[in-house]
Amino acid sequence: MSAYLDKLNAEQRMAVEFGVGQDAGPLLVIAGAGSGKTNTLAHRVAHLIVNGADPRRILLMTFSRRAAAEMSRRVERICNQVLGAKSGVMVDALEWAGTFHGIGARLLREYAGQIGLGVDFTIHDREDSADLMNIVRHELGFSKKESRFPTKGTCLSIYSRTVNSETPLEEVLKNFFPWCAAWNTELRQLFAAYVEAKQAQNVLDYDDLLLYWAQAATVSILAEDMSGRFDHVLVDEYQDTNRLQSSILLALKPEGRGLTVVGDDAQSIYSFRAATVRNILDFPKAFTPSANIITLDRNYRSTQTILAAANGVIDLASERFTKNLWTERQSSARPHLVTVRDETDQARYIVEEVLENRENGTLLKQQAVLFRTSHHSGPLEVELTRRNIPFVKFGGLKFLDSAHVKDMLAALRFVQNPRDRVAGFRLMLLLPGVGPSSAQRVLDQMSDSADPIAALSEVQAPPRAGADWTDFVQMLQQVRSSNADWPNEIEQARLWYEPHLERIHDDAPMRQADLLQLQQIAGGYSSRERFLTELTLDPPDATSDQSGVPLLDEDYLVLSTIHSAKGQEWKSVYMLNVVDGCIPSDLGTGSTAELEEERRLLYVAMTRAKDNLHLVVPQRFFTHGQNAQGDRHVYASRTRFIPATLLQYFECVAWPLARQAASERSGLRTLQVDIGSRMRGMWQ
Ligand code: ATP
Ligand code: MG
Repeated sequence: MSAYLDKLNAEQRMAVEFGVGQDAGPLLVIAGAGSGKTNTLAHRVAHLIVNGADPRRILLMTFSRRAAAEMSRRVERICNQVLGAKSGVMVDALEWAGTFHGIGARLLREYAGQIGLGVDFTIHDREDSADLMNIVRHELGFSKKESRFPTKGTCLSIYSRTVNSETPLEEVLKNFFPWCAAWNTELRQLFAAYVEAKQAQNVLDYDDLLLYWAQAATVSILAEDMSGRFDHVLVDEYQDTNRLQSSILLALKPEGRGLTVVGDDAQSIYSFRAATVRNILDFPKAFTPSANIITLDRNYRSTQTILAAANGVIDLASERFTKNLWTERQSSARPHLVTVRDETDQARYIVEEVLENRENGTLLKQQAVLFRTSHHSGPLEVELTRRNIPFVKFGGLKFLDSAHVKDMLAALRFVQNPRDRVAGFRLMLLLPGVGPSSAQRVLDQMSDSADPIAALSEVQAPPRAGADWTDFVQMLQQVRSSNADWPNEIEQARLWYEPHLERIHDDAPMRQADLLQLQQIAGGYSSRERFLTELTLDPPDATSDQSGVPLLDEDYLVLSTIHSAKGQEWKSVYMLNVVDGCIPSDLGTGSTAELEEERRLLYVAMTRAKDNLHLVVPQRFFTHGQNAQGDRHVYASRTRFIPATLLQYFECVAWPLARQAASERSGLRTLQVDIGSRMRGMWQ
């Protein structure tokens, strides 16, 4: 019965078995990378279920929907082993596994009526939020070029950071956006108007999902109801939660009973979203005297040589709580520190290594290329496409960022919530002959009506829109009253949209394929509302396939930003641009706190590797627009986080010297494909 516990070490087992009643806890598992935190958490959930906990009353929060799905699968596997087929039914009921934002959206939908939200609220992604910020900025007259007012993106970042950290605006400006400090008064006015606009339009942005949730939890009757529905609350990657998230947890479990959190302070990498490592460090204080802490110090992921190098890097950090890890996984090969001429050679080096590994039996899927910033992978993507190697990219541009997919979703969103002006604008501006002022007039007129979509046929049509306008209004009404049930209404929207797509884009066929794909994805959701919510919160990632959706049964190389690689592991890991300026990035303010976070990022990247780790250092790389000529090459040097004293942990190699000759001998054939069209399919 308890064979699943036998594989765990003593500390892991202690965490898993730490009380199964609703009153057990609070428990903090704080431990380094690869020490089995996530694995332990999955075992704990399974253990709770095996011991009679109701899976529908377990709340499990991780940092991505992918991570939550993976965790549910693990729990299911264990439960199946222990309980047999019966557990399948039970684990399907692990319905509250997800991200803070996703869970927040679901709860808010339920409590909408009680907190003055329209139940049909729609959710804005970052781009929509920036668009709304822009509309408001225009209305207030702050957007005149000569005034050099912060861009819509910067305004949104300032707003978001203020909200998530629950810190006064002045302080946020002073510490993180000093170049915007002079705009204090205008920003205050802008944010007030932005909040008002969201309320008037019944839309929530990402931050609102946490904000409203935290707010709802301060109303005692709602707080009681919310905390009463979960016997156990478990959180992975706790080091990357922010103040709002910890106050939500505190509201759900005021005394910490039934609360388990796990994390690693050395991997705290989300402070730009106002995550604070204080949450994990102050956990014991928040729940004095009852907090229980378990630490794990054995790493099961990486070989000893990789771990030694990673420990070396993090040892130079100024402050940290978790101790160094040890492992029994021996290896004679040290991680490679590879110097190449430039980014083109870097891409070629990686492709050669990846292919060689695959020939030796390591699937593409077991290899990953990591980078600090999404655009760093450009030259590699070109090389992979040229060589016909499939890849999936995490953390970069998403499927849903492409204009045509956003247009389609705007149609569905506008039907769902006709007060959503960003969606309305987007759609109306697709119509030839409709400009911003007529769109605005129509939106103003319809918004007063109790049934805005019906009202649309009454308002005066934009004079130059002609039949396109009638088609548009008809489509909205059809989709709304669609007899064809979900997801067929998406078909109606698509048929309306296609002529516009053909008119606007010259690569329409590729985009049409995306829309068919979208329709297929829609089939996996039970309702329009669920589809819109989940896709907005955690959209599928882009792949080398034109459809932009991972083909899960295929072998593909993983490309990922370090941020999105959190919690994962691969046999071989390659890291691009391990140079000063890229890591640490030279885009920040250069404060000590920021530098320390960049060091932790490198640590996170290195600790993803199980057997092989390659850090690549191009001697030259491109930077953007820092001079009048635009892009230029600069000479680079190895990251300062690997000073000479750490070189002992690496095998230092220069490429292509010996390597190229070998690859020429092996006669690898290069395939010519139309890179241009593939790339267009991926990124536009
Ligand atoms: P990260 O800090 O990167 O999130 P983590 O602490 O969550 O890492 P896991 O991902 O849970 O670590 O585990 C790392 C690897 O070690 C996984 O492959 C897992 O299966 C393995 N592992 C964990 N515990 C044990 C154990 N007791 N015996 C064997 N393997 C284990
Ligand atoms: Mg983990």
